[in-house]
Amino acid sequence: MEPSTNNTKPNDGTDPFTTVVVLSGGMDSTTLMAHYAALGCDLVAVTVDYGQRHRKEIDAARWIADHYGATHHVVDLSGLGAVLGGSALTDDSVAVPDGHYAEQSMRATVVPNRNAVLANVAVSVGVAHRAGVVALGMHAGDHFIYPDCRPEFHEALRQLVKVANEGFPTPSVEAPFITWSKADIARHGSRLGAPLADSWSCYKGGDRHCGTCGTCYERREAFQVAGVVDPTDYLDDVTRFAAP
Ligand SMILES: [Zn+2]
Repeated sequence: MEPSTNNTKPNDGTDPFTTVVVLSGGMDSTTLMAHYAALGCDLVAVTVDYGQRHRKEIDAARWIADHYGATHHVVDLSGLGAVLGGSALTDDSVAVPDGHYAEQSMRATVVPNRNAVLANVAVSVGVAHRAGVVALGMHAGDHFIYPDCRPEFHEALRQLVKVANEGFPTPSVEAPFITWSKADIARHGSRLGAPLADSWSCYKGGDRHCGTCGTCYERREAFQVAGVVDPTDYLDDVTRFAAP
């Protein structure tokens, strides 16, 4: 099977088989790795250390990149997180809220402009590697709270990347899950044999998934709705969980 990007893209000096994946270490980007591995792509994974308190996701990303035989770059932007006060993900004085993502309290987990930063770091790596594709794992479940996970953002980013790299081998920016639910990702990842048990979601920075923060809640719900066995080791008893 050939990478989906070959069909419409002119030969501009990029290697259509080289795909740069923004790999956070969570289940979306782990499934994204599985998705492009199944297409036969050579994978380059980019993980950005933006000073997130959930450091375990960077360890997870290392493990997952290794699992897929990917070249892995961990880019240190921890100094950026240090100046972004006010987000629960980078500021220890702000508590990580429990509950469902659709709640207003989850705005505390917004890191200003995060996806634009992560995507543009990956695009720089992509241009340097002459990659045909830069892939992002955002999905429809993120649209409500995170503006930089919406189709409008994806389209604007595609235009920006074209303009910003005119005359250079420029990767296409793909977001194959952008209209999918998290449950669709759980189902797809499971079918592809993605190592979802080793992916990391929890925002709280503990040794095990807490089971109650927004992203743990979303993770549990995704497996439950997908009808797929949830391989995650939660601190909170998983049997007490009920999807809304
Ligand atoms: Zn959690």
